[in-house]
Amino acid sequence: MGTRRQHKQSFLKENPFCCFCGGTTPAEEIDHVPGRVFFRDRQWPEGYEFPACIECNRATRYEEKVVALFSRFNSSDNTDADNTEFERMIDEVARHDPEFITDIRPLCANEIRRFLKERGMERPAGVSTSDIPVVKFGDIVNKSVRKFGRKLFLALWFKHTGTSLPKSGGMRIVWMTNASPAIDDPALITMFQTLNGIPPIIKNSHHLHNQFTYRYVATSTGDGAGFFVWFRQSFGLLCTIAINKSMIQHDPENIEAPF
Ligand SMILES: [Zn+2]
Repeated sequence: MGTRRQHKQSFLKENPFCCFCGGTTPAEEIDHVPGRVFFRDRQWPEGYEFPACIECNRATRYEEKVVALFSRFNSSDNTDADNTEFERMIDEVARHDPEFITDIRPLCANEIRRFLKERGMERPAGVSTSDIPVVKFGDIVNKSVRKFGRKLFLALWFKHTGTSLPKSGGMRIVWMTNASPAIDDPALITMFQTLNGIPPIIKNSHHLHNQFTYRYVATSTGDGAGFFVWFRQSFGLLCTIAINKSMIQHDPENIEAPF
């Protein structure tokens, strides 16, 4: 028997139930969250494998591609290989959903002026307004990030509590880009500092923090947790998660459930 098959068998023996749909459906596959597509050369971090039923493993297949592509929009440290991967990913997503290309577009000069003004920012010296890289995105990206976020936080909950979020559980997910005004919000910065769990994100002793990083804190009673995740320099997701959705009192109409 090959080592991969052996690994799968022993992994599923230790983790017999899917962690994404309430913890009672038998797991049949190993899911990688975040998916390999998020990482340079598909080198994903160790310890981010999760037990999944077939349906949950496939549930965010398309959304993951959209979100992984979106995570690469900030290109300041891109290598040639990254750029090639990026172009291949755009082609793949656009083939599946041609509207995606119109969902993300650069801001025009007037919109950039307004963007800078609203945030009290100055145009950097020597850069023309239309060359400031700010993109606008629509519903495809928004919906994809939210659906992907559900899966991501169900996985991180499982990793750090050792249990699947039950059907009664809920998550409140907020996301922001590196251009969101919320990024400088003092309340957010204070909250971030209370998240004192900082797990290593490593593959073969290489740190992958510049591609995916997060902080978290769990309640002492083990019934809730908070996470703040960041992908490259592009966007972040914030999540409050609890085993009973009634424990999340803020914004109850936007509470997400397990799959
Ligand atoms: Zn499932």
